[in-house]
Amino acid sequence: MQTALADFIRDTPEGREADAILRKCVHCGFCTATCPTYLLLGDENDGPRGRIYLMKQALEGQEITDRTRLHLDRCLTCRACETTCPSGVQYGRLLDAWERIKRRALAAVLPRRSLFALLLALGRLARPFLPARIAETIPAAATKAGAWPAPRHARKMLVLAGCVQPALSPGINAAAARVLDRIGISLVEAKGAGCCGALRFHIGYQEEGLSDMRALIDRWWPLVERGGVEAIVMTASGCGAVVKEYAHLLRNDLAYAGKAEKISAMTRDACEVIEAEFGRIEPILARKAGVRLAFHPPCTLQHGQNIKGVTERLLAMAGFELTPVPDAHLCCGSAGTYSLLQPELSDKLKRNKLSALGSGGPELIATANIGCQVHLAAGAGLPVRHWITAFEERLN
Ligand code: SF4
Ligand code: SF4
Repeated sequence: MQTALADFIRDTPEGREADAILRKCVHCGFCTATCPTYLLLGDENDGPRGRIYLMKQALEGQEITDRTRLHLDRCLTCRACETTCPSGVQYGRLLDAWERIKRRALAAVLPRRSLFALLLALGRLARPFLPARIAETIPAAATKAGAWPAPRHARKMLVLAGCVQPALSPGINAAAARVLDRIGISLVEAKGAGCCGALRFHIGYQEEGLSDMRALIDRWWPLVERGGVEAIVMTASGCGAVVKEYAHLLRNDLAYAGKAEKISAMTRDACEVIEAEFGRIEPILARKAGVRLAFHPPCTLQHGQNIKGVTERLLAMAGFELTPVPDAHLCCGSAGTYSLLQPELSDKLKRNKLSALGSGGPELIATANIGCQVHLAAGAGLPVRHWITAFEERLN
């Protein structure tokens, strides 16, 4: 079979492996007769030859539709086709390479802020033409960030901009900056600081993830060492959980172990910072009553960082009426890139979570991680926001 793999995959180990396997297939169709899903469904695309062709098309850069995914997902990975094939096509290895390619594509795009923002903008433009299931997952245009106060206080804290959050919800860090500014702390972002490394580290690209961590430390270090910042604030609990682990993850790296230890020790979730400064915030809280709010504590906050009940307490003190949420300890199905790699299971977890969050009749859902926020917003039927943006509205 002739192949012409797309640029993003051609020169990678997975791309080369998939290419070699695809080229062995002579399209004879012997395998089809032994494929259980083809025998049941009688559709060429539900047999190995059809699936091989679908993977080839996708690797050559054609759009992966819901139907392509459905046919590929129906494969039992029983490999009966492999033992039937007279040309030695290693179908099992092709599937493995396919899975790794999906991860590589995510690893290439998500941590790069400008590329992610560009793809997101294209996705928003194309939304009317996409199948409903895919269109639903593309977040609507983000509301404007609002003003970021100029640094004017002696007390300073650093905040992580992150890789996907600025494009998806630029208002989160700006809201945190305004809240802290009101109590005498200037929040600053380090120029050129990128991804915390979690994305690539957790999808099997550990070395690349560690490189992202070192690059972020390099950007932060001058501000930590000489810039007088007293803490590093995280508005995405997923990033916070990982940055707090830098000390462990980089412990064997002689050049970075010491810096990583200091960075981890200085890192606080936004709710920890606000709680510690509550004495200064309390006098400027308006405490308007009346909005019923359901809070979803992300796994990376309650399990990863072991922070339980803090955000809920702050929101209640700001006058929100917190509605009861059964099984609040369970994951919403976002889990980093899980929602992209396991869409069916993730969707089921989301439906369960939305039903639990909605059971107390809230007007608003709040959470503490951009991944959970975007994941839950698609299908929630009511606003889903970062808690700091709701909290800010309670300041006089
Ligand atoms: S039997 Fe082998 S060569 Fe023939 S179509 Fe199936 S995978 Fe391709
Ligand atoms: S692995 Fe099994 S189900 Fe999948 S294509 Fe081959 S024979 Fe069919």
